Amino acid sequence: MDLLRLVADQRCVACDAPGRLLCGSCRALMPWLGAPGCPRCGGPVRDPCPTCAGLAPELARVGAAVRLAGPAAAAVRAWKDEARAPVARLAERCIAARISPPPSGAVLVPVPPAAERAAWRGVDGPADLAGRLARRWGRALAPALLARADEAPQRGLGAAARRRNAVRAYRASGRAPARCVLIDDVMTTGATLSVCARLLHAHGAREVRAVTFARVVTEP
Ligand SMILES: [Zn+2]
Ligand SMILES: [Zn+2]
Repeated sequence: MDLLRLVADQRCVACDAPGRLLCGSCRALMPWLGAPGCPRCGGPVRDPCPTCAGLAPELARVGAAVRLAGPAAAAVRAWKDEARAPVARLAERCIAARISPPPSGAVLVPVPPAAERAAWRGVDGPADLAGRLARRWGRALAPALLARADEAPQRGLGAAARRRNAVRAYRASGRAPARCVLIDDVMTTGATLSVCARLLHAHGAREVRAVTFARVVTEP
């Protein structure tokens, strides 16, 4: 495919209008997470922070570029449902615009998509995003450090049993680098990131942070 064709084929990942990766009107509606926020999770400052209350102590810090709403939510749907590669590019650019690069020596670790979460068709979105960020920031990538283990069905289980199952849903192979940065598309409650952070600590990590494209913000 030649380059002109590629440019002509480009459509807005949020509204499908032809032309750009993110059209002007969607760009204006992008729900950027404003600073200053909660110093640990970047959410709106409230004391105590309801998001941080649910995060594992092993998860030192979480950063997201946008709230999961409007064009950002549409972009995530397109990313998962249509496996559109340009969405990873958009997510990378939004993160680069909002989040400072992790400290040198930090290693990026994509969160493996779990069966229970929205299915990715044909791509591993977090791995794609992590690879792009690793190149952009000049950081190492550990694409296979975390993997999905077989999951027990969650239906009909209480919260405690669900948490136990969630812990068993992932496994780490080998020793984790001292500084890890988990990369995922969306943070909902932070439960998945918490489980992965615990696992990385158990495998030798000393500091685990997380960066996601979007996050759910619970309104007060
Ligand atoms: Zn648009
Ligand atoms: Zn917080």
